[in-house]
Amino acid sequence: MNIEFTDFIKDYRKRLSSLFGQLPQEEDSLHQRGLSPRIMDELAELSPSAVSIPAAYGGRGGDPAEILSLLEATSYESLPLALIFGINGALFLEPLAKYGDERLKKETFSCFIGGRSLGGLMITEPNHGTDALAMQTSWRKSDTGYAIEGTKHWAGLSGHADFWLMTARERGAESDLKRDIDFFICDSSDPKQLVKPIEQYSNLGLYMIPYARNQVDVDVPAHHRLIPHKSGIRLMQDLLHRSRMRFPGMAIGFLQRMMDEAVRHTQDRYVGGSSLFSYDQVQQRLSSLQADHTIASAFCRHSARISSIDNDLSGKAMEANIHKTVLSDMMQNAAQSLLQLVGAKGYKTDHIAGRSVVDSRPFQIFEGSNDVIYQQVADGFLKHMKSINNFHLFSALQSHHLTEKIADRFKAITNFTVNPNMPQRKKVDFGRIFSRITGLDLTLDLGNRGFDQALIDQAVDSMSERIQSLLGGFLGIHTPNYIPVEAGGSSSWRETL
Ligand SMILES: Cc1cc2nc3c(=O)[nH]c(=O)nc-3n(C[C@H](O)[C@H](O)[C@H](O)COP(=O)(O)OP(=O)(O)OC[C@H]3O[C@@H](n4cnc5c(N)ncnc54)[C@H](O)[C@@H]3O)c2cc1C
Repeated sequence: MNIEFTDFIKDYRKRLSSLFGQLPQEEDSLHQRGLSPRIMDELAELSPSAVSIPAAYGGRGGDPAEILSLLEATSYESLPLALIFGINGALFLEPLAKYGDERLKKETFSCFIGGRSLGGLMITEPNHGTDALAMQTSWRKSDTGYAIEGTKHWAGLSGHADFWLMTARERGAESDLKRDIDFFICDSSDPKQLVKPIEQYSNLGLYMIPYARNQVDVDVPAHHRLIPHKSGIRLMQDLLHRSRMRFPGMAIGFLQRMMDEAVRHTQDRYVGGSSLFSYDQVQQRLSSLQADHTIASAFCRHSARISSIDNDLSGKAMEANIHKTVLSDMMQNAAQSLLQLVGAKGYKTDHIAGRSVVDSRPFQIFEGSNDVIYQQVADGFLKHMKSINNFHLFSALQSHHLTEKIADRFKAITNFTVNPNMPQRKKVDFGRIFSRITGLDLTLDLGNRGFDQALIDQAVDSMSERIQSLLGGFLGIHTPNYIPVEAGGSSSWRETL
């Protein structure tokens, strides 16, 4: 681990590019299911997990800038692999480093530094996804530690992770479940700690990552329980918020790849005697991609500065949620744009454009559904408005620490008062708008630190245009609800002939 990071990342990029760069191997990564042992073995030689492991245990020290750079390099070549390393770092190694018992850390980290071990996190249950705090997986004290029982599903690397971070609630003497959530490490090499997949899922995308419904019936040693600083729920918030602040790393490499593919394709492809690149509508797509890449750079800078495990992120819900939602939307939009530009060829299952559409889609669902967390962002901002006793949008943007620098730019179009009791759908719109304005505030910081000013201006103009159109929708009429239609009623077009 004495290698300089710049040398490490250069070697790592080179290795990734030779693993994913040639056509037959590219097919390997895009088309085949399951982890490729060849890819994992070759990368393990460079010990990518070390970036998320403290120096005291042989790692590179867990510097967020290094972690984000590793994710960036990986997602340029393979979004599924970046998600594997994202989960392994933010949802396993970093929480272990922060909350693990000394003995547990020594035993576990050595498997990641020397070998090719991977870890994952199990929270979601078949009946509890968005409402994860109501999970039914439970633990009781056993003779040697903790016995944990339940069912978990959709955990990335199901059946393949060498270690799991398992979540459960304590079952009390009356068989009731306590409110708090506890975290335990399960070592899959010990049959007593092995979590068994009982139904393999055929996932739509992210072919490299196995998903399943898993039966949890394990007994873990006492020192395998993570030690929260305050409560288990605070630990969970700190962990999830840090993980959401790792989205910029996965997003920026992916956006760069989408942009490179789009530019290359549109320059090479001639339609109607002109290169696609020369069409105005094509330029509109390319400039949005480039603007989103610049804004993602701003999120990377911000995350690199605040998301170390030394900081308690449990109270940073709003910032973390903004990272997650805005960047996952950008990823999906970029993939959709690339597919549009590539045309029919991109719709083949083994073309990067089509694969990217399905691979990036679940980023809008996992770690908090975007529909739900945009609403939470809106609630956070409305709380701020209430605290200053001012529901005038421009004034509130001017006085909020996440938007105060960019607020002036939106003066003309935010000169109105909002209704704090707006319906949920309007809150989702409002959260989407506020999050994008925040992204531009961070983009100004990026510009002030020497980032190419032409790119900053382009990003601000491009995103402002999109915000203006979102504001139009927000201020528009409240669309009607779904109308239940009875069979035999007059809702068939044929009856109207
Ligand atoms: C590819 C992939 C990878 C995953 N990886 C992991 C992992 O590694 N570990 C893990 O533990 N889990 C993982 N998950 C699970 C993921 O976190 C859950 O799918 C997610 O939390 C949503 O839960 P759910 O699927 O049960 O959906 P539900 O909770 O049923 O929600 C479905 C939809 O209902 C709507 N909705 C829900 N609540 C509300 C509300 N209050 N207001 C308005 N609308 C609402 C939203 O549109 C939401 O998307 C993964 C999922 C996928 C698809």
